Amino acid sequence: MTSNSPKLVDGMGRTIVNLRISVTDRCNFRCTYCMPADNVEFMERSNLLTFEEIHRIVTVVSKLGINRIRLTGGEPLMRKDLPSLIKMINEVEGINDIAMTTNAYFLKDQAQSLLDAGLKRLNVSLDALDPEKFRDVNRRDCLQSVLDGLDTARKVGFKSIKINAVAVRNFSETEIMGLIEMGRSEGFEIRFIEFMPLDSDKVWERDKVLFGHEIVDLIKEKFELVPVDNSLEIGPASEYTFADGKGKIGIITAVSNPFCDHCNRIRMTADGKLRTCLFSENEHNLKDLIRNGATDASIAEAIQQAVLIKEPGHKINLDDFKQPDRAMHAIGG
Ligand code: SAM
Ligand code: SF4
Repeated sequence: MTSNSPKLVDGMGRTIVNLRISVTDRCNFRCTYCMPADNVEFMERSNLLTFEEIHRIVTVVSKLGINRIRLTGGEPLMRKDLPSLIKMINEVEGINDIAMTTNAYFLKDQAQSLLDAGLKRLNVSLDALDPEKFRDVNRRDCLQSVLDGLDTARKVGFKSIKINAVAVRNFSETEIMGLIEMGRSEGFEIRFIEFMPLDSDKVWERDKVLFGHEIVDLIKEKFELVPVDNSLEIGPASEYTFADGKGKIGIITAVSNPFCDHCNRIRMTADGKLRTCLFSENEHNLKDLIRNGATDASIAEAIQQAVLIKEPGHKINLDDFKQPDRAMHAIGG
């Protein structure tokens, strides 16, 4: 292997370049497709990786070829002093992209310091522009705070802001056009993500998923869409531009047409468990390795071994599918 060879290649030949780091499992929202309404059991704070521990893991994986980091949660902006972590990660050689997924509730106050710390890209979750529907799905009455957060992020100078909307049947249909109009006028790419079986309430059913092709059909009633060539090579979304040249959308068909063959990512939970798939049944405990004094070389070796047995794909569409014990907020979406 030459020094330029990728060092994180799985058993299927997929090269891993992308690490998603959850910084907390806590959240101020209670989205129906993610968390229960109440009585959530959160991780002990002492089990959360410290910023120094996260930085160490990022340093190790950067030498294995990972160059993209996304911070997520739970709600990442609930983790105190997140800009300090971003600054630390930004200084790691080899990391050239730091992004974050957020519900944007705290973004109004933090956007400037996040940008100053080196955060490059933002994905904001927003499922509905109708305040009542927002409240129904997020179980919080705060659409305006999210819109204010988005507005501030754009004003302080974030160049890449995407909006994530989970596509749920009998809910999202009425929201799609409003989100698209907003994206086109404000310059946000809107991404629709098929509802996946990762909800704490375990109420997911295939019938509750609004499928990507149905979303495309709905949009085509009003707009001519132009598929973006080869978009699967750079990410999970099938992307489309509008024929009038104004705006872009992405459709993530995680259920109806999984992108597992192209998957280039792994995840680390807030309590330091490496997961090689959203739907992994096994985890690799990096926190214990670190806290037991492992060397960088042995941490790297553990990550390489974990990646080697990365799942070929998820099994949502197979009879032996098993929903993971962790819900989305505790994995890190
Ligand atoms: N709290 C932040 C947020 O909501 O943006 C970050 C964490 S959240 C778990 C990350 C992403 O996962 C969000 O875009 C959310 O909409 C998405 N998500 C959560 N549960 C999901 C599910 N069951 N199916 C599809 N996407 C889901
Ligand atoms: Fe919180 Fe994000 Fe889950 Fe909604 S999707 S409950 S905002 S972690």
